[in-house]
Amino acid sequence: MAHAHSHEHPPTKPTKQEQETAQREISEVAPNLLRMQLPIMMPGLGHVNMYALLDERGAAVVDPGLPTPSNWKAIQDRLAQAGLRPKHVHTVIVTHSHPDHFGGAARLAKESGAEVVAHRSFRFGVMETTQDPEVSVDDLSAAGENDEAHRRVLAGWNHRTPWGGQHPRPPLKMRLRWRLARWLGHSFVPAVTKPVRAGEVLRVGRREWVIRHTPGHTEDHICLHDPADGLFLSGDHVLPSITPHISGLAFSKDPLDTFFHSLDQAAAVPDVKLVLPAHGHPFTDLPGRCHAIKQHHYDRLDTVKRIGRELGPATVQAFSQKLFKPRSWGEMAESETYAHLEHLRLAGAAEVHRDADGYLIYQTG
Ligand SMILES: [Zn+2]
Ligand SMILES: [Zn+2]
Repeated sequence: MAHAHSHEHPPTKPTKQEQETAQREISEVAPNLLRMQLPIMMPGLGHVNMYALLDERGAAVVDPGLPTPSNWKAIQDRLAQAGLRPKHVHTVIVTHSHPDHFGGAARLAKESGAEVVAHRSFRFGVMETTQDPEVSVDDLSAAGENDEAHRRVLAGWNHRTPWGGQHPRPPLKMRLRWRLARWLGHSFVPAVTKPVRAGEVLRVGRREWVIRHTPGHTEDHICLHDPADGLFLSGDHVLPSITPHISGLAFSKDPLDTFFHSLDQAAAVPDVKLVLPAHGHPFTDLPGRCHAIKQHHYDRLDTVKRIGRELGPATVQAFSQKLFKPRSWGEMAESETYAHLEHLRLAGAAEVHRDADGYLIYQTG
């Protein structure tokens, strides 16, 4: 997110590596494995890493960026530096259902007939499109794979969030574009031709990658582990210097707890020598980074409890505006605050009721 006054007040913190502008130069981070940076402009992010896994058939790529013409140009440019063209990409691996990760997949599949690999629960739109006012917070948690509940959750933009806030509608231009794309039948969401599950082995890039299902940031998040060389493609699950957004609008009853379990799972993967994240630089200490991310959330939970003591019974929005800086206020901040409050409630450290206006009111102990 742009900082309006950065020229007047030099930032006290250096730029996070995940914010760095995409570099044109590609780099070989392991034998037959290239890091290619694609440009994105999202809050706190300046690039996404597309990894190219080279083999005798051409290349598999991981997370090919946004569904935009400029991204497509960047893909062609980065591949060309490795002597490749889009038609040489035989497999596209998508770590999770966010547009900066799957956006280039549909185009690559169209150009080269590439296989599209993602977790079998891959689904875009669940967390971004809420809420039918008839769907209660309990319905949402219990919905799971229930299609009827899912359809109802997807029913509208302009309804309330489970905690009673107003869900902001995406800009009209974007809604019309999506509607048009759907009408024309070429959605930017790729068709997953090879759905995978935990423990499956994917043979690409002269390596055998073990699929690890790591829900939390999204339900369908996967990491890929090469035990032979100790390589770990971590997607957004474990990033070097920022923590991924944990949405309260997940089907999991306790998304934060789900994320903790997935961090424990990643930390327990033996002998990882190099972590290849979707944003930022490759790094080495996977258990250490998993531990630090958990500690960040434990600190946040303590802060939420302290805020609760200051505020007394309060809405999710009120909690979020104490927890986050004003420039971050909004639905994403509320969603993450809601995930933390629900985690506390399920641990017996908070109580909740719905007030007459339909807002959830939390009280921490
Ligand atoms: Zn993501
Ligand atoms: Zn991401």
